[in-house]
Amino acid sequence: MRYLSTRGLPDDPRPGFSEILLEGLAPDGGLYLPETYPQVDAAVLATWRSILADEGYAGLAAAVLSLFIDDIDAADLRRLCAEAYSDEIFSSPLIAPVDELDGGLWLAHLSGGPTAAFKDMAMQLLGRLFEFELARRGRELTILGATSGDTGSAAEYAMRGRRGIRVFMLTPAGRMTPFQQAQMFSLDDPSIVNIAVDGVFDDCQDLVKALFCDLDFRRRYQLGAVNSINWARLAAQVVYYISSWLRATTADDQEVSFAVPTGNFGDIMAGHVARMMGVPIRTLVLATNENNVLDEFFRTGIYRVRGAAETLATSSPSMDISKASNFERFIFDLLGRDAERIRDLFGDQLAQRGSFSLAGTGEFESIRARFGFVSGSSRHADRLATIAQVLDRDQVLIDPHTADAVTVARRHLEPGIPMIVLETALPVKFTDTIAEATGRVPECPARFEGLEELPRHVVDLPDDAGALRALIVGRS
Ligand SMILES: *Cc1c(COP(=O)(O)O)cnc(C)c1O
Repeated sequence: MRYLSTRGLPDDPRPGFSEILLEGLAPDGGLYLPETYPQVDAAVLATWRSILADEGYAGLAAAVLSLFIDDIDAADLRRLCAEAYSDEIFSSPLIAPVDELDGGLWLAHLSGGPTAAFKDMAMQLLGRLFEFELARRGRELTILGATSGDTGSAAEYAMRGRRGIRVFMLTPAGRMTPFQQAQMFSLDDPSIVNIAVDGVFDDCQDLVKALFCDLDFRRRYQLGAVNSINWARLAAQVVYYISSWLRATTADDQEVSFAVPTGNFGDIMAGHVARMMGVPIRTLVLATNENNVLDEFFRTGIYRVRGAAETLATSSPSMDISKASNFERFIFDLLGRDAERIRDLFGDQLAQRGSFSLAGTGEFESIRARFGFVSGSSRHADRLATIAQVLDRDQVLIDPHTADAVTVARRHLEPGIPMIVLETALPVKFTDTIAEATGRVPECPARFEGLEELPRHVVDLPDDAGALRALIVGRS
């Protein structure tokens, strides 16, 4: 399997999976996608059903991922999947169990990993793939990132203790939830450096960018990233769409729909890939919160990114985005993989005007018929009502992000089609909103008890690139 860039990089030969694994953006500024999506038929789907039954989630992951990864030995890939998707790491031996709720809704539990958010599903495999590939190349990697919540902790728990990998993770001082802070700062590992920057999330991101732009520093300290544009993360996420479909159906031609709480368009992009492969997915329901940039596009054809000042701080904070970093991949497929138009829309028009429009084009009009997408948004009051309602009807407590998806999913239910909502975090991460919705504080799963009392490992840093550089040099 070879990969190409959405901006049309004329590279020859095109890179394979292990060549793009450690990279973020393609050299032309585009995002990598497989040359073609592997196609699966009823026979393959039936084989996957028996693999899931016999070998569990890890076996299915190896089978699915082997379609995207042909430059890592099959036995190595199976071992890495078995290590990542084990019941020592995830709270259920099913890894991503699926439950039926009232009225045609299902819930796919993707938050059983070490940091109680769905990002563990991809990150646990990514850490092991990185370690494997770095050892093969005799290289080391310094991961530098900024986080306002779930990504940073998922990355740290996946990368800790991996040979050849160090992590420097910036957070805006005092601005994450107490649970999120405790989760990151309690990690006691010489290769993980937590940094609390005197500033907001955008300041953290600017510091990271400043160091990445310093090419000499970047090369000398082998800086790398683990953000959601990494193709390997998307590939790993395709697997739970397939396992969830298998678990909610008994026949290999039974269609399901998915509802996905969306921020950077990473999670739902993996659903698009699964659908393009031929997995029987009818509708992909995209749910946003009050920051509805993507809902606006799917309703109107206009994609208008917003500035930090226009981005609201909501009670589903992991979806507070103003610009969806993975969206370019979907538009590339929508426009028949026309790289020239992508360069025009994402290069020129977004840079100059902050928006582009596909309204009135045949491509936009065909989105639902050809790609199955519909969308909607949810507000604070919807979130609270949905959390209370699901608790009352189903005795299941869901987190605010999952609640956004349940809210929007209900508007798109069709008789006879299971609607699988992806659960992206556990309620314990967002106690204030849960308490507001239900009148009580969510239970803390046993594995997280006492976390907030542990000693904290975090370095305070001024909002200054020189200070960050000095810290990395000092710890290398
Ligand atoms: C990251 C995250 C999302 C959004 O996922 P994207 O891949 O950015 O669309 C939703 N919910 C939670 C809890 C998250 O951590």
